[in-house]
Amino acid sequence: MERSLETESGILRYRCERKRVKNINVRIDREGQVLVSYPAGCPLSAVEAFLRQKSRWIARAQERMARRAVQAQQPRHVQTGERVELLGKPYTLRICQALPPVASEPDGPGLAWEGILFLKVEDPEREESRKAAFARFVDCCSARVFADANDQVAPLFAPLGVPRAEVRGRRMTARWGTCHTQKGQITLNKFLLHLPRQCLCGVLVHEYAHFLYPDHGERFWALVRHLDPQNPQTEALLRGYSPHF
Ligand SMILES: [Zn+2]
Repeated sequence: MERSLETESGILRYRCERKRVKNINVRIDREGQVLVSYPAGCPLSAVEAFLRQKSRWIARAQERMARRAVQAQQPRHVQTGERVELLGKPYTLRICQALPPVASEPDGPGLAWEGILFLKVEDPEREESRKAAFARFVDCCSARVFADANDQVAPLFAPLGVPRAEVRGRRMTARWGTCHTQKGQITLNKFLLHLPRQCLCGVLVHEYAHFLYPDHGERFWALVRHLDPQNPQTEALLRGYSPHF
């Protein structure tokens, strides 16, 4: 059974099951989901009290899992054969020698094609050079992908009188997106490039909705869910990687 609980570390969602066990057991799986088993005679209120007591430990464990999941999406040494995910799809990295000058292409030094991410590197033997090329690819590719997502999301808000925002990407460590309503700017975490596209659009809808409602009140969520019916699933998906990485 899926349940949720308000704790000092935020809303805790968990799955609980009555089992032939002596004590209440909590386990965090690879996706960061909280699984609870409890003995037959034990009331749910006792399970909740136990989870409240353990909430900090659970939050920390989820963060560790999220960090691991994030690392798994990004190549560690930027070497041929490493795996990288782009918009949630897996690619295998292939390092190629760049012939100077590097041609200016839409995704900079990278080209994602049929499951392979070709990355042109000026000095393939040097890890620094490979990492710099990968970072350049992420910059170029995220700029293009974020602009596409903005083309899709901005028209949803136009009838509500919200003008198209300027969307930029940044490396952030604790948030998926932020907005500056007066300047008409939205900043997205560049890491969203690695997650499924619905995460990117979901975060964008969320930030655009703040142009109308600055807080996370009922009307804010009603609007978000009206415009993005997939929102509850997207939120759950993002929790697999968030809140901190
Ligand atoms: Zn928000």
